[in-house]
Amino acid sequence: MTDKTNLLTPRPTRASTPELQFVAPGVWGLRNVFVNLYFVRQQPNSGSWVLIDAGLPGAAGKIRHTAETLFGANFPPASILMTHGHFDHAGALETLAESWDVPVYAHPLEMPYLTGRSSYPPPDPTVGGGAMAALSFLYPKSPYNLGNRVQVLPADGSVPDLPGWRWLHTPGHTPGHVSFFREQDRLLIVGDAFCTVKQESAMAVWEQEQEVHGPPKYFTCDWHQARRSVELLAGLKPAVAATGHGIPMRGAALEKELDELARHFDELAVPAHGRYVPQPAVANEEGVVTVPPPVFDATNPWLIGAATAAVGLAAAVVYTQRRSRSNGTKARYRHLQQRNQNSMASSQHAVDDPFVPDTNPRYSSDTTL
Ligand SMILES: [Zn+2]
Ligand SMILES: [Zn+2]
Repeated sequence: MTDKTNLLTPRPTRASTPELQFVAPGVWGLRNVFVNLYFVRQQPNSGSWVLIDAGLPGAAGKIRHTAETLFGANFPPASILMTHGHFDHAGALETLAESWDVPVYAHPLEMPYLTGRSSYPPPDPTVGGGAMAALSFLYPKSPYNLGNRVQVLPADGSVPDLPGWRWLHTPGHTPGHVSFFREQDRLLIVGDAFCTVKQESAMAVWEQEQEVHGPPKYFTCDWHQARRSVELLAGLKPAVAATGHGIPMRGAALEKELDELARHFDELAVPAHGRYVPQPAVANEEGVVTVPPPVFDATNPWLIGAATAAVGLAAAVVYTQRRSRSNGTKARYRHLQQRNQNSMASSQHAVDDPFVPDTNPRYSSDTTL
């Protein structure tokens, strides 16, 4: 009965949900434009808390303000936990970690992207699905550098400052991607291992249409690992999934759609074509080792637009340069012709090299040899 009710309840959207919403006891999610981050109390009734992910660049003020609203002024978190280091999850990380003076934790395979050692594999705008994907060639992939402030998550799966939680390695979207799970109420903080919105579509992202989808296609660099990660998470049978993208989802709808995603991952999540579909990017604890060659999708209007604009711009630059060189040459030729005539008329000396600068006194028209 409860399941049926859940399935029939209208899905929440951006219009029907606040930016800051209660997810579960001691857990709140903040929507930062198109990405979510989470505030988690150490224990539901304790004062101490941690931040999970750090939003887009420029979000530090908003995150600090929200933290003050929830926990009071001058009450920094015990630490910041990172699901992964993509620009939309780590954008305000340096500012926040520094201003709060707190440690940051991430998986060892995510460290290169948070300590300035490696860029991520390039996003893949050829995966299709909408404008968010098509424009992904513009998204930053450079590393952040937190230096010694960032530390590796404990190898035993425990989560610093969050007793009762464990972290799970859920690679595929990025090499060191992790999700956080609270056994007691089966609450899952997913990161980007899967989404509850079609993240490739700007329209779906704007509306926040709630629906389980695979990881954002344009940034996922190993589809085999991504499938195994979704299978792992579906096996946890989470009661609530608080994702990096999309409105937190719960109950029967979540169970049904996550199960379907795990069982039909190739059809539902893996793009029909794309740079990382035939072969993954390879990375280790030092960063990216190899990436497959780029592919060009001749049907992508954004790429065609960008390519056309680039070709047009290059042609305009070349044309302008040639025209200015040609005008300069003609002007110089006319000038030299005039000068030669003057020179021949006065001293019978001719210019022997029309491209020697006029500043050379030997060839100055008023030089008398
Ligand atoms: Zn991501
Ligand atoms: Zn993301």
